[in-house]
Amino acid sequence: MSNTTTSALPTFTREIHLAARPNGAPVAGDFALVERELAELAQGQILVRNTWMSVDPYMRGRMDDKVTYIPPFELGAALDGSAIGEVIASRSADIAVGATVSHFAGWREHAIVDAATVIDTDLAAPQHFLGVLGTTGLTAYAALTEVAPVKPGDTVFISAAAGAVGSVAGQIAKALGAKRVIGSAGGAVKTRKLLADFGFDAAIDYRAGDLAGQLATAAPEGIDVYLDSVGGEHLKVAIEALEQHGRVALVGAISGYNGTTTQQTPDLYLAATKEITLRGMLVTSYFPIFAEYITKAATWLADGTLHTTETVYEGLNQAPAALLGVLTGANTGKMLVRLA
Ligand code: NAP
Repeated sequence: MSNTTTSALPTFTREIHLAARPNGAPVAGDFALVERELAELAQGQILVRNTWMSVDPYMRGRMDDKVTYIPPFELGAALDGSAIGEVIASRSADIAVGATVSHFAGWREHAIVDAATVIDTDLAAPQHFLGVLGTTGLTAYAALTEVAPVKPGDTVFISAAAGAVGSVAGQIAKALGAKRVIGSAGGAVKTRKLLADFGFDAAIDYRAGDLAGQLATAAPEGIDVYLDSVGGEHLKVAIEALEQHGRVALVGAISGYNGTTTQQTPDLYLAATKEITLRGMLVTSYFPIFAEYITKAATWLADGTLHTTETVYEGLNQAPAALLGVLTGANTGKMLVRLA
């Protein structure tokens, strides 16, 4: 529906800018809350009132002045990332006022975008499209079906297991027929949750020390698949515990994102002699199976196969705290900011 607007449209919005590049761990002063006038909509554009935004560990890397697989955030400009919102004005022939959409202009209360995906809110609550039905859920699914496929009877080890990817991954591993699923997380509250809510068979508190010993106790016969979100000591210990022809999905390496700690190095010769497959992944490469995954995961959510949780910070001004929090373990399940 073209040229459609609702009454009383905002003329200003607020957004979070990158004020400084961090030196090690980011701090609140690296961000600034800025008010800005909204431009007129051009033909084809929509104005979205953002209701939810995603906060993800990869955003830490974008705060550095380094080009990786994704450009860095610009100093003095708004950050971006996945968000959900309601269309409040439209000059698009394809997206009507009132639609709920997902797009990539988060970190602001209102977004003017050229393209967005209309989401089906009959399928699940809108914020699920940033978590279990979003790229975090797809990451867990692709990691365990395509990158390091789980076979029935496997023993699977998952790090950052109480987080967004990890908590879904444990349950997907079970649904794929894993015999035993072991998760590691920081602290007793999270490890209890792994067992009580997320269907893990064993839980390791990596902050309690002796990661290798705890993994040996949890998996006395070794592991077949490891989903690595952490890197460093976790990857080293997992390679030591993997069976011949073990598989590793290299999903993330959060223990090194601030670059402040000396990382333990995995023994790649041991990986060679065990004929281990170590395979990296970017979730964007699995967008061709996104629709198939959403259908499957929505069914799993509805029939109780998948249980999810979220940690919600309220208001745009809390978004920097949410990012600092996701990097230090303040979240269980998906870290989100509710904007309205
Ligand atoms: P998340 O797990 O919800 O949050 C990050 C968690 O990491 C924290 O809650 C914290 O939990 C844990 N953590 C922080 N520092 C740690 C350390 N030094 N050692 C061990 N654990 C630590 O985040 P997510 O969005 O699901 O992402 C998980 C991982 O997947 C990240 O590495 C991310 O970069 C990666 N990822 C990759 C892709 C891809 O396309 N390759 C896509 C999505 C996510 P504790 O309290 O347990 O420490």
